[in-house]
Amino acid sequence: MIKGISLSKGVSIGKVYLLDSSKFCIIKQKLDPENVDNEINRFRQAIEKSKAQMQEIKQRASKVANKYAVILDTYSLLLEDEVIVNDTIENIRNNKLNAEWALTETLKKFNKLFNNMNDDYLKGKQDDLDLVVHGIIRNLIGHSQEKLSEIDEPVVLVSHTLSPSDTIAMPKNLVLGMATEVGGKTSHVAIFASALGIPLVSGVRDLTAKVNTGELIIIDAIDGHVIINPSEEQLKHYRKKQENYHNYEEKLLENIHQPAKTLDGKHVKLMANIESLDELKSLRKFGAEGIGLYRTEFLYLMAKTLPTENELYDNFKKVAQGMGSSPVVIRTLDIGMDKNLKGMEGEPENNPALGLRGIRLSLSDPGLFIHQLKAILRASLYGDIRILYPMISSVEEFVEANELLQKAKDDLKKQQIPFNENIPVGAMVETPAAAICIEHLLEVADFISVGTNDLIQYLLAVDRTNESVASLYQPFHPAVLKVLKEIFKAGRDSGKEVSICGEMGGDPLATVVLLGLGNQGELSMEAHSIPKVKKIIRKISLEEANQLADHALTLTSTEEINHFILSEMQARFPSDFDRDTTFEEKFQPLINNTH
Ligand code: PEP
Ligand code: MG
Repeated sequence: MIKGISLSKGVSIGKVYLLDSSKFCIIKQKLDPENVDNEINRFRQAIEKSKAQMQEIKQRASKVANKYAVILDTYSLLLEDEVIVNDTIENIRNNKLNAEWALTETLKKFNKLFNNMNDDYLKGKQDDLDLVVHGIIRNLIGHSQEKLSEIDEPVVLVSHTLSPSDTIAMPKNLVLGMATEVGGKTSHVAIFASALGIPLVSGVRDLTAKVNTGELIIIDAIDGHVIINPSEEQLKHYRKKQENYHNYEEKLLENIHQPAKTLDGKHVKLMANIESLDELKSLRKFGAEGIGLYRTEFLYLMAKTLPTENELYDNFKKVAQGMGSSPVVIRTLDIGMDKNLKGMEGEPENNPALGLRGIRLSLSDPGLFIHQLKAILRASLYGDIRILYPMISSVEEFVEANELLQKAKDDLKKQQIPFNENIPVGAMVETPAAAICIEHLLEVADFISVGTNDLIQYLLAVDRTNESVASLYQPFHPAVLKVLKEIFKAGRDSGKEVSICGEMGGDPLATVVLLGLGNQGELSMEAHSIPKVKKIIRKISLEEANQLADHALTLTSTEEINHFILSEMQARFPSDFDRDTTFEEKFQPLINNTH
């Protein structure tokens, strides 16, 4: 049993599909003996391709500077290196491994050798080798990466991490569960997994080295465990656990069409965050009252070329029609940081989280932005569509974005294309600057949606995607609670709607605190979380929530606040928060009660 952290609850049991996407999607595969020669040929062809590419780069480079072309000779020499080539071929032949995996192992071996050297010059060659090997792998992967979309049986995905484009490529209905070596609570893969209800355990060290494609694996994303090649007894235990959890979730759905009203009658609207049209089907099932955040960047990441205005329009229209008269908040493109568009990578940034992302990128490419705005405006005739700008850090930015919106409206008028002239436009509050200037922002925006994922990252100066500082990423940090309180207060004073659409909004542990801090209008979350959050809201009064939040605000350390909130929630909702009892003890009484 290996320990990790559970990022999307549930239990899955199935065959491993191993990817190594630390740099690329590398699948470890055992070959049938008759395919070994073909694999060696494939490897040789990839090397030939790399040599040709290197020649081409060299020609272009020599036009710029001869010195650079000389450096490239080193790379060409490495491609000729018999030791690297032979070592890999031997590994393919003897261990019947696919070329990508065998070559990665050769690279690891050489890196170890380099690390033990004292010669700085030779150590410098390590980077060259790395670059050359990854060039070859890229050529090999041209073939194997597509395999991800070709998964044709139910599997459990195991990988170092998953990029947004990986998650888009995979056939979601065939992914039973996922386990990754890295990834925090607000990483894309966690959001993706909980949106689709796929159990996910992350932070499992060296997992990719411990499993092979085809082996049986259990993902226990209730307690954060991974079990490779389980025994019959373990299988029996976890099948029961899986069934129990399933029943527990079904039970939560029983009250799903009741309003999320507190005991003293305050109705909190529970909305869904979505990333694609596929999710629309499940929204009613979970009782979503609308879409509070449509992350549109995945429409762009999915396409090979930029989507046309008509394609975007068709998509937005389907969402609007699918939701009837319920609100649909469409967030404009939030590319940057961990989500990059092919062909739009721009200059590499030292601090992508602080770089050209969100609204900054849209303002720097007005053509792209107006294109999207026109598609949203056109779709606004078909439902209650609203626009949301991401990563706003000043009033000027919001105003500038609105000027481009006006231009989009003028263009449509000229083309005599109808749209909703009064479409509401909101700002995401996810930078400290936006939070501090909330009153000013509320003067220009029609509504506010708090993106706690980024707000916490920027307030606490903790990269939300960095495993090594994951323990510092604390939603209940006193600074976060204080800032949220101010935002909700400003919202109430202005009379404008303030909602939360970051992961904190869907964390049942945070539901009561957020109510008490003043978030009483709307919460938007992965649809899967709605039943649990609703259950909590229906069993608490505003007065009780206020008391809890007021006390939390008096505490000075995150540890104290975490402890206080957890114990309060455990006392009120033992079956949902009691982490000390075993799963069976926790869920069995609840399930028995249903029969
Ligand atoms: C957020 O930052 O809280 C948010 C909802 O946006 P994203 O997770 O897409 O950055
Ligand atoms: Mg964000």
